[in-house]
Amino acid sequence: MSRYAIGIDLGGTKVEACLVDETRAVLARKRRPSEPGLGRERVVANILELIAETAGGSRYEAVGLGTPGTYSAADDIMYGAPHTPLYEKPGLVSLLRSRLGVPLVVENDANCLALAEFFAQCHGRFTTVMAVILGTGMGSGLILGNRLHRGPNGNAGEIGHTSIAIDGRLCECGRRGCGEAYLSGPSLGRRYAELAGEALSPDRILERYEAGDPHARRIFDESFRVMGELFANCVNALDLEAIVLGGGVSNIPLWYAHVPPVMNKALFGTPGRKVPILRAVLGDSAGVLGAAYLALREMGLMEF
Ligand SMILES: [Zn+2]
Repeated sequence: MSRYAIGIDLGGTKVEACLVDETRAVLARKRRPSEPGLGRERVVANILELIAETAGGSRYEAVGLGTPGTYSAADDIMYGAPHTPLYEKPGLVSLLRSRLGVPLVVENDANCLALAEFFAQCHGRFTTVMAVILGTGMGSGLILGNRLHRGPNGNAGEIGHTSIAIDGRLCECGRRGCGEAYLSGPSLGRRYAELAGEALSPDRILERYEAGDPHARRIFDESFRVMGELFANCVNALDLEAIVLGGGVSNIPLWYAHVPPVMNKALFGTPGRKVPILRAVLGDSAGVLGAAYLALREMGLMEF
């Protein structure tokens, strides 16, 4: 007899659900608008309707929920949920929990992505991995010794807000030299605008790089060094065996050729070590899949 779990990926504008069985096979996947502007009751109703539609009559035993920002169970708030004020007010998750009737496990969406990518391409090969999401921001999830490491407050893995230059670029968080202030999509665009007076998307900057544009060359050459040094800091601190790169900005192929030499040169300890930077393989389904794994763990069907 099959056993079923539901994964939910709650975003600022949409919510996505998947139904998985005990073998981790995805049996259904659906999405709809999350509508946070219409209030807490509406968001919870959207999630419940989406779950019912996705389950299609299968009796699921647990639900995993991936949230933006860091969910604090003590305050019932998602801290740092970008541009979604409703999620930073208390009550949404507890309301959902009270309506569900099965256990609900909540985790930050970067940790969900890290879990899904770990099981997709690292499990059995590596035990200690960091999965980085590089898009409009920069975050990461850590798997240390085959275990998801969230930290006592769920704040572990905020690699985007570790600094590589104490007098470096000012970050939106108020610090200087944060990785996010150089490498996020908006930051790449801002850096190009400062040099060339024209704001471009990362893809367009890449096109200019390939066409030999000196400003684009300068920005990417500096970015390879920033990313290489930042990742080397993480490897040196945690003895990582691999780094997985996901999110919109991870589609730029240059990272995989130019960052490893910088990073590997900066590694301390065992001589000659080479840490692979792997491209995420699950695309935008990683978040919802990782959330489902949390539910499977709750049911005693997965370990991490
Ligand atoms: Zn920062």
